[in-house]
Amino acid sequence: MSRDAAVSIIRKLREAGHVAYLAGGCVRDRLLGLIPKDHDVATDAPPETVQKLFRRSQPVGEAFGVVLVYPECREKNSGGGGIEVATFRTEGVYSDGRHPDAIEFSDAKHDAQRRDFTVNGLFEDPLHPEQPNLDADDDGVIDYVAGRADLDARVLRAIGDPDRRFGEDYLRMLRAVRFTTRLGFTLDPATAEAIRSLSESLSQISRERIGGELRLMLTHPAFADAADLLQQLCLDGPTLNEDPADAPLTTLRRLSPGADYAAKLAAWMIDRHSLAEALPAVVKRWRKALCLSNDDTDTLGRILRQAITAQDWPTMNVAQSKRLLTQADWDQTICVLRAMGKSNNIDADTPALIEDGIGLAPPAFVDGADLIGLGLKPGPAFKTLLDDVYNAQLQGDIRQRTDALAWVRDRTATP
Ligand code: ATP
Ligand code: MG
Repeated sequence: MSRDAAVSIIRKLREAGHVAYLAGGCVRDRLLGLIPKDHDVATDAPPETVQKLFRRSQPVGEAFGVVLVYPECREKNSGGGGIEVATFRTEGVYSDGRHPDAIEFSDAKHDAQRRDFTVNGLFEDPLHPEQPNLDADDDGVIDYVAGRADLDARVLRAIGDPDRRFGEDYLRMLRAVRFTTRLGFTLDPATAEAIRSLSESLSQISRERIGGELRLMLTHPAFADAADLLQQLCLDGPTLNEDPADAPLTTLRRLSPGADYAAKLAAWMIDRHSLAEALPAVVKRWRKALCLSNDDTDTLGRILRQAITAQDWPTMNVAQSKRLLTQADWDQTICVLRAMGKSNNIDADTPALIEDGIGLAPPAFVDGADLIGLGLKPGPAFKTLLDDVYNAQLQGDIRQRTDALAWVRDRTATP
């Protein structure tokens, strides 16, 4: 559907006398038989013209000449967002390793050159051969950067001189890892060598952008390959803001792909640091290095703490075991423990704890109001008392509310 929307935008631009193609990731993904995330359009029409032609549009990256165009008819394309229409451009000098100092609008050939990797530098004319395009091959693909050959050979290669291209924007080094592993490609040796020699410079990139790239890598099924390649290219240290390590990724490799981002980070951290050492200094460091959200940081901390607690499983009583199993994010912790090969006794004991007729987290027989009802004064001792009576309930020592109240009375009776 999103392709249809992009094609109708291209048709309209073409009717107005402009060159307009599908560009970048969507061309690559179609040729690989993958479903593109989105469809980007590139055109020689300047942004003002794009905005005039499409009533429902909005400039998004004015400095780069990008206009977001929404489909004319809402119902027909419901659910879809806008399509990015970018004017062909050439980028000037990058003096800061992050942004070009200036851009100039140009043609498709120059626009291909400013893109990062050959397989990302392809265009497609969806109207070919209906409206024949001399630059297009049979599939309608327009290739100014020899991207098709790399796509067929499954190689990720920087366009042009790799040292220069990574020097322009150091984030491209992380993008190289993301695309290589996500597509299951190999990295061209000269491209890899350039990354290795420039890896330290990654720290000039904002932590938000670094964290964003790492998240994209680790939330993809090829997450372990991505971490591995980061280490091979010496990007792990600058990404995580710590010393480089070529840790064997045993835990991360065995982690189920469905595990959360925080669990992936926990597994990787365990492979790079010992579990005991991982807390809390490393969590703090990674939080800053990757701009982790509070939620991800909390989950990461909980997983590591629970994994440490779980080492004592054989000596824990029933109440302690049940309380561990019902802690927030335990589902993630158990994934990590399984990957560590340390979950056997927990997995063996859990069904019996769930099915013991009491349950893992039954509603408590007594609460604070009951204690007040019994004439006790609220205070710090309340929590201990409630914890103790609930432990007795979890263990099956107390089976009903009247017994729980009697237990409390007994415990608090003054001799
Ligand atoms: P994805 O499927 O992850 O969105 P994509 O190839 O569409 O992959 P985007 O980040 O959406 O990647 O960028 C779209 C296109 O813009 C890329 O294919 C590439 O041609 C170009 N591009 C994006 N970021 C950069 C960059 N930092 N340097 C050079 N070119 C870039
Ligand atoms: Mg994209």
